[in-house]
Amino acid sequence: MLRRFDLNRLKFHRLSLHTMSTYPQPSFERQSELIKNYNSILKTINDTATAEGRSKITLVAVSKLKPSSDIMALYNHGVRHFGENYVQELISKASELPKDIQWHFIGGLQTGKCKDLGKNIDNLYAVESIDSLKKCKKLDTVNQSNNKINIFLQINTSSENQKSGYNFDNLDEICETVEYLLSSDCKSLAFKGLMTIGSLSESTSDAEENRDFKRLLELKKQLDEKYSICLELSMGMSNDFIQAIKQGSTSVRIGSSIFGARPPKV
Ligand SMILES: *Cc1c(COP(=O)(O)O)cnc(C)c1O
Repeated sequence: MLRRFDLNRLKFHRLSLHTMSTYPQPSFERQSELIKNYNSILKTINDTATAEGRSKITLVAVSKLKPSSDIMALYNHGVRHFGENYVQELISKASELPKDIQWHFIGGLQTGKCKDLGKNIDNLYAVESIDSLKKCKKLDTVNQSNNKINIFLQINTSSENQKSGYNFDNLDEICETVEYLLSSDCKSLAFKGLMTIGSLSESTSDAEENRDFKRLLELKKQLDEKYSICLELSMGMSNDFIQAIKQGSTSVRIGSSIFGARPPKV
């Protein structure tokens, strides 16, 4: 009896190793740790949403500078939304990882890199960091896949010089891109929402409201009304996602609270 049990286990083990072997796999300990962190964040998100009477919030696991095996740890747990910041890193991860991952590009994007991004990743779910009409058009022309890429316009709500994004005060420029995205000229992109990175001072202040998130929500309301649409809001990171949900976020981007501190970018 005992021997037959062992034999079955052995067969199962070999089968699962065989089917999983093409993807980089984490150690058992690392997988357990990441799933625990992920579940704990997800619970906080769901508890906050419930308390606020809000429906489902998307959790994007930000895996930049972390190995593909870390992504597989959460993938094995059923997670599909992952966020990356660097074009080359995303291309190489996307090529070696499962094709049903829904990648979010959330990093600074140069016009010259739009081609690499749009051409090489069939399962690019969203680009959240569009900050000019030129980049928008470029991405639209190079996307050859059958899937439309969801677009979030990044808004610099804190007007900090080092931050990219549309200038919050330049409504004309924002509207120009929105009108392109909604026009029939735009073939391969879907306008999904607005994104912001809250300033550190706002996310660490004791004030009741985060003013960056408030500005993004106000802009959303303005655009929703003007164009009869209903935009999503991508706002909230490890430090400030609870407050972001309270202020209307529909998608949070969480890195270090799930994967731990990142190594420096070389
Ligand atoms: C790195 C990054 C995140 C995740 O930040 P954490 O503080 O590690 O959760 C979210 N959004 C953007 C745009 C990022 O660059």
